[in-house]
Amino acid sequence: MDTTLLKKYAEVAIRVGVNLQPGQPLIINAPVTALEYVRALTEVAYLSGASLVRCEYHDDLQNKLRYLYSSDEHLDYFPLWRAEYMEGYARDGACVISVLAPNPDLLADVDPIKIARVNKSTAIGISNYREIFSKGGVSWLVIAVPSPEWAQKVFPELSIEAGIDALWQLIYEVNRIDHHDPVMAWESHVEKLQEKVNFLNHLHIKSLHYEAPGTDLTVELPMDYVFEGGGSVNTSNDAYYVPNLPTEEVFSAPYKFGVEGILKATMPLSHNGVLIENFTFTFEKGKIISFSADKGYETLKALLDTDDGARYLGEVALVPVTSPIYQSGKIFYNTLFDENATCHFALGRAYPTTIKGGLEVSPQELEKLGGNYSLIHVDFMVGSEMLNITATTHDGKTVVIFKNGNWA
Ligand code: ZN
Ligand code: ZN
Repeated sequence: MDTTLLKKYAEVAIRVGVNLQPGQPLIINAPVTALEYVRALTEVAYLSGASLVRCEYHDDLQNKLRYLYSSDEHLDYFPLWRAEYMEGYARDGACVISVLAPNPDLLADVDPIKIARVNKSTAIGISNYREIFSKGGVSWLVIAVPSPEWAQKVFPELSIEAGIDALWQLIYEVNRIDHHDPVMAWESHVEKLQEKVNFLNHLHIKSLHYEAPGTDLTVELPMDYVFEGGGSVNTSNDAYYVPNLPTEEVFSAPYKFGVEGILKATMPLSHNGVLIENFTFTFEKGKIISFSADKGYETLKALLDTDDGARYLGEVALVPVTSPIYQSGKIFYNTLFDENATCHFALGRAYPTTIKGGLEVSPQELEKLGGNYSLIHVDFMVGSEMLNITATTHDGKTVVIFKNGNWA
């Protein structure tokens, strides 16, 4: 492991990711295998003035044992003390870093109903915490390190050892850690994303027209759409933080009932361990009325049958093909990376922050503002060098947004 690069990766997380301010506590959630990286984060955090750094370690395999052997009713147990701990550090203004070491197929043989049951009890247990969180008062970050299983999946042709090294290199590359000054590279990248966001938010877009081989689609936006990208301002200390590393997208919500035409995905979608390939959707009044897939049709069908909202779009995201993730030519089998490869949409739920007033209504009421609600939110890629996107504004102007897969 290259300790110089690891240190730089920690600096980007602390200074750009959560943008830790002197006196703030830092909470890290990480798998036990990420020990080296957690130590690097801790060092940079204290040097940046952290008041306290705590890491809560977990082990994905240990969590899996609960799904396999716990009795069903115990899966509903979420202890109050754990919720109080989380609410406590959120109240104290802590930054929160979640380190992932994805193991893409770990839960493939676990009953999805059990996973849903634990997810539900967790969601109910941490609802007060989520509330503090959704008001924008917590600077948080999700960032990843390799796991042997993940490395094998991305680099099946290499030995486990060589695969881990190659995956580290790839993670550093797409996170600009190989740049001379990664923190500065990130600051200027985020500034550029912010410029796109401002441009799109002032354009008063009525609809976007997508044109590419197999795609001819019109996507209306809600009257009060909001594009977001890069990061957010923490509402309690005004620090600008970037919650996902890497991030290349600017995104908003489509008008739920305003999507018409056909749309062809340009990259496979990995869902529940199954690869869905070469798939196409036909939309009418926002709803997917027919679809096809060369591979993984049944998985795609099950996904679309999750609930009513699963057949509608909840996110429209713009990413140029110059993105380092697209340029790497790799599928990461992890959304944190793959959604930053190229332009994409999401099936299912819209982010409440992408429509003005969305945070003040319940997720179900978001529909009145034009946003979709569903239990799922699954990204799929539609970008390529052949994609052109043209906007029509409310005053009837047409503006080319994307030409040949890039910002026009
Ligand atoms: Zn996205
Ligand atoms: Zn998404």
